[in-house]
Amino acid sequence: MQTKTMPDKYGQSSVMSAKYSAEQLRWLEKARAFAAAIPISEVIASDRENTFRRDLFVKACQEGFGALPFGETYKKSLKDKQDAVAGDYVSFSLVNQEFARRLNPIMSSLGVHVLCQEPIYKFGNDEQKEHYLPKAACGEMLGAFGLTEPNAGSDTAAIETTARLVGDQYILNGTKTFITSGGSADFYIVMARLLESRESTESTEITESSPATHKTASPGAKSSKEITAFIVERNFAGFEIGQKFDMLGMRGYSTCEIVMNDCQVPRANLLGNHGEGRKVALSSLAKGRVTIAAQCCGWAQAAFESATNVLQRYYRDGATTSEANGQAHVLGEMAVSIEAARVLTFQAARLIDAGESNITIAAMAKTVASDTAMKVASDAISLLGLEGVKPDLLLERIFRDAKAGQIYEGTNQIQRMLIARDLLR
Ligand SMILES: Cc1cc2nc3c(=O)[nH]c(=O)nc-3n(C[C@H](O)[C@H](O)[C@H](O)COP(=O)(O)OP(=O)(O)OC[C@H]3O[C@@H](n4cnc5c(N)ncnc54)[C@H](O)[C@@H]3O)c2cc1C
Repeated sequence: MQTKTMPDKYGQSSVMSAKYSAEQLRWLEKARAFAAAIPISEVIASDRENTFRRDLFVKACQEGFGALPFGETYKKSLKDKQDAVAGDYVSFSLVNQEFARRLNPIMSSLGVHVLCQEPIYKFGNDEQKEHYLPKAACGEMLGAFGLTEPNAGSDTAAIETTARLVGDQYILNGTKTFITSGGSADFYIVMARLLESRESTESTEITESSPATHKTASPGAKSSKEITAFIVERNFAGFEIGQKFDMLGMRGYSTCEIVMNDCQVPRANLLGNHGEGRKVALSSLAKGRVTIAAQCCGWAQAAFESATNVLQRYYRDGATTSEANGQAHVLGEMAVSIEAARVLTFQAARLIDAGESNITIAAMAKTVASDTAMKVASDAISLLGLEGVKPDLLLERIFRDAKAGQIYEGTNQIQRMLIARDLLR
């Protein structure tokens, strides 16, 4: 395997930690060129106006980013055959890191789009694969992931959305909230509680992030064994887009509620088997959290680079040695923590590529990387003072987005709890 490192501005590298193959670096360079071609005015506008750039999303898919980790069977529509060859999660992480570093306006939707194809590849039948995957690969269809509900965030065992099999259809009722791409997607991986399933008196299982109180569920309590996954399309009768959110960070991703009101889902759109919803969700999240970790590394790198720019100016303007040393100390600390986050993130990505996807390592990577992005963004703003909060420097944007990184796909508090639970088991 040919290996080399990619030099970067400041003699540092945004891809330190390890050697990468020529193919992995090809993806990195492609991502860098793609993101660099988006004018900064458009990057700022998508955040400020909170609008989703579907055109950019389609373009990214046609460049092969939208289904990068998957095999070529369903990617025949891509123009460049090289982009249709199965990539790996290290490449996808490099792409996400680079997109975050440039605040690419479609980054999060693209990450979730891949997260949604994952369970179709893994649990879908041939008809589902034929129907969704080619359209997802070329960007004709955008995917979203519907797990969180108004009363079920960290505690996914509390899901209230129900599904009932009536004839040849499942009838779904419930609301999913904070759904990335929710307002723009064409298909949704939705977790619902299957009615008419076994009685829940055997409900002693603890779900991923349910509090310990669920451990001894009483008869009639909710069981994760009933949770079932469905592929729901936007045009199904009874499906509606709900409230759109004007959030602090991660704006421009069409994040909103989706509402299912006697929503008619064909029997053919059951994903996996009855009661496999938890398995479906966890297998996606184990990879999704690595994607988020990579994004957080990119934000941290971008914040570090902004701060470095200012420090260089500071030296030119004749700062005293002690003042400059104070700044350099902070930068050194940033560099150490970014590199540590990267090591863990790419370790998690390599495990996925080795067929050993590990949800605990993914949780560690997501926690460390998002906490690092938050701290580096905050410290960078402190270094720059007033200049740090000007929108065109994008630091305040990174600060806002990094906060969301600590929350979505499971809060960092919950990740820590899961890590401890796994290690103490
Ligand atoms: C930008 C963004 C995009 C998102 N996109 C999606 C998406 O595409 N699809 C989707 O399904 N969801 C999505 N979400 C929702 C996200 O996954 C949830 O916000 C997250 O799981 C936390 O749930 P919650 O907000 O309800 O917080 P809560 O569960 O209400 O938690 C509130 C606080 O209590 C803490 N806490 C809760 N339970 C415990 C416990 N047992 N022990 C210790 N502390 C606890 C939490 O850590 C947190 O600090 C998104 C969220 C954001 C911010």
